[in-house]
Amino acid sequence: MQKLLNELIENNRSYCEHGKVANYIPELGKTRKDLLGISVYDIEGNLFQAGDFEHKFTLQSISKPIVLMLALLDNGEDIVFEKVGKEPTGDPFNSIVRLETFNEHKPLNPMINAGAISVSGLIHGASPAEKTRRILEFIRKITHNDGLQINEAVFQSELKTGDRNRSMAYFLKDFGNLGGNVDEILEVYFKQCSIEVTSKELAYIGALLARNGKDLLTGEQVFPLRYCHIVKSYMATCGMYDGSGEFAINVGVPAKSGVGGGIMGTVLNRMGIGVFGPALDQKGNSFAGLRIFEQMSEELSLSIY
Ligand code: GLU
Repeated sequence: MQKLLNELIENNRSYCEHGKVANYIPELGKTRKDLLGISVYDIEGNLFQAGDFEHKFTLQSISKPIVLMLALLDNGEDIVFEKVGKEPTGDPFNSIVRLETFNEHKPLNPMINAGAISVSGLIHGASPAEKTRRILEFIRKITHNDGLQINEAVFQSELKTGDRNRSMAYFLKDFGNLGGNVDEILEVYFKQCSIEVTSKELAYIGALLARNGKDLLTGEQVFPLRYCHIVKSYMATCGMYDGSGEFAINVGVPAKSGVGGGIMGTVLNRMGIGVFGPALDQKGNSFAGLRIFEQMSEELSLSIY
């Protein structure tokens, strides 16, 4: 495995050139585009890493399946499914169009921004600060990393520029599909997106899902099986933006990407994979990261299909 990961990084680093670092959140635009790292946890808990695996980056949309898990634990699935649907959209992650045309006016799934904002509104806590603290503590607990922090500069940058998300939140509120105060819910959403990790944390959570919620180190059942199925189904059908169908064909594992450059993959009973490569393709997926997943899937026969 270690040899394979070294080769994957070496063979794919040149693809970083073909992508572009996200700059619609200005702070993300400062990231070097040639970075590329990978971490893999197998389900026995062995860790393999190569490239820029020590580089920190923000979760961005990879926070969506994680916060969805916490929302399910807080509320149960009936309440969550009242707010978000179960279908992929085929639209970009920040598209607003279906909120008006879909007759229930609720987001079609929790992996697009509108759906994720609704889910952030479901996290229990008396204030945005408490909700954010609960999300951060949840991620620290499930990764066994008490050092995880919010990148304040990325949070402030998105707070200043996140008007598309703001407009979606107001739209949802107008249709009665967002419980609570728009600014407060967006504060929680922007902060969850700004939590800083390395590829190792993504691999750990991926492996946790690969073991259907059973912790690698303690053996504790941290997520119920049903919720693992829900989260992984969303990752498989909508996790890679409007490139999810192509990813299913070329890679074939549940995965979630973020505009910070991360991709978190989970292969049932085999492994969790975390890749970081901030140069993105036009849909928002890591350009070199996609190639790494494709080659790894072929090499290790990872496709679940
Ligand atoms: N914070 C980002 C946004 O809301 C997340 C987008 C992403 O990673 O897809 O635009």
